[in-house]
Amino acid sequence: MQIKNEYPPAEIWDRVKACVHVEEGAEILFTYGDTVYNPTGIPIDQFLEHHEAQHVAQQAAMGKDEWWDRWLKEPAFRAEQEAQAYAAQYSLYCKYRADRNVRAKYLHAISNHLASGLYGLTMNQNDARAAILKRA
Ligand SMILES: [Zn+2]
Repeated sequence: MQIKNEYPPAEIWDRVKACVHVEEGAEILFTYGDTVYNPTGIPIDQFLEHHEAQHVAQQAAMGKDEWWDRWLKEPAFRAEQEAQAYAAQYSLYCKYRADRNVRAKYLHAISNHLASGLYGLTMNQNDARAAILKRA
């Protein structure tokens, strides 16, 4: 897995912007194949890196273009792939953080992220939290 501080290739990036709501300058990561694009240079901790590593594996399993086709066109597929990635991220986090309040705060934050407009899903924060916990 390599990380590049740039926008993804235009042929895929334009399609993403047409499907999901991404603000110019939004702090997002975008995995395409084995490359993680980090256009705004946000800090990537080991938990976030683990999330993106799930997408590398998911894309390797079915082909990155097929994966992105489905991610963009099928909200249920997108929800499932993201819930898996967030669950792996949360599981790793819990290995390093024993305090239940600290864990709960983290779960709340990533649930909010999954339920945000970025993913264009209809789930609310509670649904997102349940989806993550079910797979963690
Ligand atoms: Zn993701």
